[in-house]
Amino acid sequence: MGIEEKIFETQLENGVFDAAEVDFAEGLARLAVDKGYDSLSPKQKAVLEPYLSAYCSGVTDPGGHHNECDALLEGEDLLEAYQLSEDSQSLMCESCRSDQGYYQHQWQRISEE
Ligand SMILES: [Zn+2]
Repeated sequence: MGIEEKIFETQLENGVFDAAEVDFAEGLARLAVDKGYDSLSPKQKAVLEPYLSAYCSGVTDPGGHHNECDALLEGEDLLEAYQLSEDSQSLMCESCRSDQGYYQHQWQRISEE
């Protein structure tokens, strides 16, 4: 299975296509997982292409400051973001995920004081 198929499989599991603008996008993603992304026609691929990349949603520090990260996630990075982000609608890059882990740790300490 290639990286595209793995991404679509993860998106299907996370219900990413529930909110799809194109209502047959989910069916195409299933087809891509079953038959391989390369078996799709160029027009079908064009429908799914927007799902193969996403921008990092950034992270907000305990002071309420958003870091405005807009890293582009694609390929392995995108797959990893889907697997490691709690919310499939707000994906984070590796750097923001580690920042968030640090902030959560800080929050925990503050709340335990
Ligand atoms: Zn980021």
